[in-house]
Amino acid sequence: MSQPLQYNPPARKIIKTTCAYCGVGCGVLATVDEKNRSIQVKGDQSHPANYGKLCSKGSALAETVTLKNRLLKPSINQQECSWDQAINEVSHRFTQIINDHGPDAIAFYGSGQLLTEDYYVANKLMKGFIGSGNMDTNSRLCMSSTVAGQKRAFGSDTMPGSYSDIERADLIVLIGSNTAWCHPILFQRIRVTKEKRPHVKVVVIDPRETTTCDIADLHLPLKIGSDVALFQGLLHYLDQHNHLDQAFITEHVEGSQESLESARDYDIKHTANLCNLSEAALNQFYQWFANTDNPLSLYSQGVNQSSAGTDKVNAIINCHLITGKIAKPGMGPFSLTGQPNAMGGREVGGLAHQLAAHMDFATPNDIDRVARFWQTDNIAQRKGLAAVELFDNVASGKIKAIWIMGTNPIVSMPNANKVRQALHQCEFVVVSDCILNQDTCAEANVLLPAAGWSEKDGTVTNSERRISRQRALLPCAGESKPDWWIITQIANAMGYSEAFPYEKPADIFREHARLSGFENHQEGRFRAFNISGLASLSDQQYQNLLPIQWPVLPSTAPDDVNGTQRAFADFQFTTPSKKAHCIALQYHAPVNATTDEFPLILNTGRIRDQWHTMSRTALAPRLNQHKPEPFVEIHPDDAKRYQLIDGAIATIHNQQAKMQARIVVTSTQHVGNIFVPMHWTSDLSNRGRVGPLVNPVVDPISFQPESKSTPVAISLYEANWHGFILSRQRLANAITDYHVEVPNTDHYRVELAHTEAFASSPQQWAETVVQSLYHTNTDITFDKLEWQTYQDSSQHQYRAAVFYQQQLEAVIMIGPIPKLPERDWIPQLFSQTEISYEERLALLSGRPPNGSSNVGPIVCACFNVGENTIIDAIQTHSVSQYQQVGELLKAGTNCGSCVPDIKRLIKKHT
Ligand code: SF4
Repeated sequence: MSQPLQYNPPARKIIKTTCAYCGVGCGVLATVDEKNRSIQVKGDQSHPANYGKLCSKGSALAETVTLKNRLLKPSINQQECSWDQAINEVSHRFTQIINDHGPDAIAFYGSGQLLTEDYYVANKLMKGFIGSGNMDTNSRLCMSSTVAGQKRAFGSDTMPGSYSDIERADLIVLIGSNTAWCHPILFQRIRVTKEKRPHVKVVVIDPRETTTCDIADLHLPLKIGSDVALFQGLLHYLDQHNHLDQAFITEHVEGSQESLESARDYDIKHTANLCNLSEAALNQFYQWFANTDNPLSLYSQGVNQSSAGTDKVNAIINCHLITGKIAKPGMGPFSLTGQPNAMGGREVGGLAHQLAAHMDFATPNDIDRVARFWQTDNIAQRKGLAAVELFDNVASGKIKAIWIMGTNPIVSMPNANKVRQALHQCEFVVVSDCILNQDTCAEANVLLPAAGWSEKDGTVTNSERRISRQRALLPCAGESKPDWWIITQIANAMGYSEAFPYEKPADIFREHARLSGFENHQEGRFRAFNISGLASLSDQQYQNLLPIQWPVLPSTAPDDVNGTQRAFADFQFTTPSKKAHCIALQYHAPVNATTDEFPLILNTGRIRDQWHTMSRTALAPRLNQHKPEPFVEIHPDDAKRYQLIDGAIATIHNQQAKMQARIVVTSTQHVGNIFVPMHWTSDLSNRGRVGPLVNPVVDPISFQPESKSTPVAISLYEANWHGFILSRQRLANAITDYHVEVPNTDHYRVELAHTEAFASSPQQWAETVVQSLYHTNTDITFDKLEWQTYQDSSQHQYRAAVFYQQQLEAVIMIGPIPKLPERDWIPQLFSQTEISYEERLALLSGRPPNGSSNVGPIVCACFNVGENTIIDAIQTHSVSQYQQVGELLKAGTNCGSCVPDIKRLIKKHT
């Protein structure tokens, strides 16, 4: 077995790489301390995505470079094994299943976390050599509607603009995008643009009043799923008020008449009614769009994750096409991709209907072309199954073996309990991942340890088509290997070694670049994705590659370090006629409507400081403090209707599943809608996974699931008691019906609630819990612990502090209602070698000792500044501007993600 080329310690200790998280694709400068296997990070000032800024998640990357919870050795059926054994097992079982049941009995499920080189070889193995189309990816859940919409409009999945359009636009429209939390660095660019050019208008189109509305001149809280109606209304308005660019339409657009005809009924009154908006607000937005030369429409998952996602994308693009406000500076439709390499995956064919290099199964001659390039006679002849159908086929037994790479579908897929069951009964499940305790690993027959972010080497492509290098900072941990190497070894073991001769990522990148130019510009057509200008990079040039936007043609690279800032700048689109397509559309309400039984619409999404299923961000203690528990946001009227109390726990259920989350009553929600974040896993929260509730309805064109609109019911969880534990040792298992773990630096916090009363007493229960914490500890035994307790039986209150040799080991507080003593002041005590008498008393009284402060919930994750500290500064210094808080406490001065929260506190406490 060939080994990946030896890791060469970098000559310089400062290495440029790319952030592991969202599609903004920020450049990172990492200072590497190899001896201690640690890094420090800051933003790369030379990277055109972020110019030196990093958000809270990016700033905490260094804290995630840990061996904690790392998968370090391969295993077969929970028995550790050698790489040879693991590779033989996988190749043997795959070959056997293909021989017995055909290639479609195998599937690969990839991830937007994979690097382009990893993705390329996985796709080549499945579609080119195993001979099935069954390679799909979690990008299906993220932005496949954009892929389908752009293909319909432009003939290819090509995003026209660049981030630099943000600074040039005069109207910025944010649609279905909580940009402030999900693409924070772009949000900062918008904020700065607005501060420098105050005439710039920002419109937020979102059912929720998110923190993004902080900079909005107009917020349109439309009915969930009614975006098509809203943009059909705009199309009609533009037509009626003579804002069409007839010359542009004649030269460059097809289908405009049919499209305008389809919008004929969407006058303002009707549209306002469909969208549940005021006519005046709609009219204002339509006027601004019509009268601004350069409007920029940024959209994200609220558009994509819908049973009408593709139509929503085309509804937005239509308005730009008929006004000619596209592919020019400062304007156009702009998809903000969710994952770091969602676009890289699309480039190499990571979705089941794609082949490679923007070729697909439906376009004439593409199958033959790719087969000739790969020199294979076994290429798949038809598209494979998209994610939801793919796992349905695992459940039904048609797919007998699946390889899941770097993703956690048991948490992220809709109807996720069905996915868990499907994997549980699947004949052969392979999982390659860098994380050990994620839900999907538990269902694997073979576990393959993959390199983590700081060890991976290759490229990623961000939302603006910019290819950036992700460089290895540290050697692979334990026996982990890069994904491309693992896939190559399996391909070789299956007998395809001639087609998989790769020794390093640069070999794969060059082949990928060559394929992008292979027979491009043929039969009167061209493929926009063309990076053949990078096909001859030497290893050293690949190592030094600067961020560059595709297309990169041989005539432009590698000397032109910027690549192509604007796709379609000559208005030659990638359709046979070279004209863009307007699409005739009709609004349809989301597929599943509310009923008497399930009267609320569940909307899911991201929060500021967590990423996907938290397997990495939860390793950074400061990222767990802003929103420590799964929560459900609900409007006050609905809270009243369903007798829910702010801060208590709700049970949310539908016919598929149920979950529990902390109640947040807020008028930022629409009446009839609730919002729950997507991140929590079984590992951290026994009842906090929302994926099992999400209905598996998909868009009929993109097959993207509708993650924003699931009918559910909600009720108050009537616990017998509530409590929390802060302990130096980690609890091995959930001990109560509601159990949420919040990892911290030197201790664990667990929030608890239970349905049953204590069998005997809180003290006895607490002793059993503490005993379980120390039963495997040889240094500290239970009988050596010192206890201090307080119990008020009449009030059903119990508090305990547990010490070992003056050091705090655990704190337990229990009460009959959700409101328990503040705990934000307690963590600091775990770092002390001795707890004073006053502090001991304070622990029993549930209040911080006199003179010490309770910082409150963390608002600024970058500088660890709590809400109470900010309120104190606001009141003491009569603060009226968020910048003053920055001057006093530094809060909000790094990534700026908490600025909306600081402004809210100023408004409330001045
Ligand atoms: Fe990473 Fe934040 Fe930049 Fe996204 S915005 S790439 S999460 S630093």
